[in-house]
Amino acid sequence: MRKVVFLALLIMFCANSLKAQDTTDEVLLELNKKSEAYGDIAQNIWEFAEMGYLEEKSSALLQKTMSDEGFTIKKGVAGIPTAFIAEYGSGAPIIAILGEYDALPGLSQKAVPERASANMAAGHGCGHHLFGTASAAAAIAVKDWMKASNTKGTIRFYGCPAEEGGSGKVYMVRDGLFNDVDIALHWHPGAQNAASAGAALANKSAKFRFYGISAHAAASPEKGRSALDGVEAMNAMVNMMREHIPEKARIHYVITSGGKAPNVVPDFAEVYYYARHGKRDVVLNIFDRITKAAEGAALGTGTTMDYELIGGTHELLPNLTLQKLMHDNLTKVEGITYTEEEIVFSDKISNTMGYDKADLETAQSIQPYKTEAKAFGSTDVGDVSFTVPTVGMSSATWVPGTPAHSWQAVAAGGTTIGKKGMMVAAKTLTLTAIDLLANQELIRQAKAEFLERRGADFVYIPLLGDRPPALDYRK
Ligand SMILES: [Zn+2]
Repeated sequence: MRKVVFLALLIMFCANSLKAQDTTDEVLLELNKKSEAYGDIAQNIWEFAEMGYLEEKSSALLQKTMSDEGFTIKKGVAGIPTAFIAEYGSGAPIIAILGEYDALPGLSQKAVPERASANMAAGHGCGHHLFGTASAAAAIAVKDWMKASNTKGTIRFYGCPAEEGGSGKVYMVRDGLFNDVDIALHWHPGAQNAASAGAALANKSAKFRFYGISAHAAASPEKGRSALDGVEAMNAMVNMMREHIPEKARIHYVITSGGKAPNVVPDFAEVYYYARHGKRDVVLNIFDRITKAAEGAALGTGTTMDYELIGGTHELLPNLTLQKLMHDNLTKVEGITYTEEEIVFSDKISNTMGYDKADLETAQSIQPYKTEAKAFGSTDVGDVSFTVPTVGMSSATWVPGTPAHSWQAVAAGGTTIGKKGMMVAAKTLTLTAIDLLANQELIRQAKAEFLERRGADFVYIPLLGDRPPALDYRK
């Protein structure tokens, strides 16, 4: 008798998991069917090529895509007109998928394998047109799965503007928009398929403005006080400081205004600084010392100084529980194979980067799983990762070997290569979100790891303070 009950239970269990697998397969099939439509959406955003906080058309298109699928839209969140949240379902668990859609100034480029400007103000050199679209596609597929499998919970798409230097997500985190989220998923376009632990540098940036007194530089220099002297004195001090800061810290600056003519003592000068390091607290300390150098420079040159915080992000907090899950799903999804036409295009792109032929194997394969990564750049996903357990990946949307922020990245992003690569991410995010909704023990484990890594006494400090979103930083 007991055997019979056991057998019946086993059959029920198998039938259920088979049904769950069928539902997942159907959802992936549906994603495949819609891939052309998603490709068109990405192409539209690629053509809009809107810069940070100016992404009106891109944001509106993604909002429409989500609302047509039954998502409720909250727009203009965190005081940012182009930020929005699209939501489906109710209650816990709440899974967030992040999407970006801002373009980069100076990178206008046609979808051809040689440098050819499309004569636009900007171009999608970081592939955010794919980023936003594939994340939206994943959120929709997860919604379809929730419906088909009658699963409770909430799926949200976060429309996140101005990642490139605008720190858009930091304002969204600061406003508490992630406080009730259980897990956040993201991805990024790239030159390979990888879901290893990510890393990013914490970063704080500001424009230091010096004010002096203008005078004829030859006839009455004693009456003048040079704002440019203020900038130069500050830079000299900061450059000396480099020897006395923790290793691996980065400080960069550009002089954004240095006067107009040598025979006029400049009454205004401005220098734009970035400080970066793998740990937020080190960045806070270095940035404080930079402001001290600015104050000292103003004092010594008889000028005055103020500064405006422009950006500030945390480093990325990894979560290996989630990362391993995402890697396994990416492995199931697999990379992309190029058509003859795509091979011709990618060979030509590869030639411009000094390679004979495109490395097709890298586009097809998945990079081995690694639990540690080196940080080179910064991202505002860092702030999300210190608020909720967060996991990300990259897929080969560019010809292997292509660096981000290059015309080659813009070009591939405007072809079928970019759109195929983006669907690898859409599928992997979908499978990962489904796993989390279907097995909430994974969420519990990810949260335990998150709390341990963040540390018991962690307090969130928005690195850009209480400044309002810098909505005009690209105008
Ligand atoms: Zn990017």
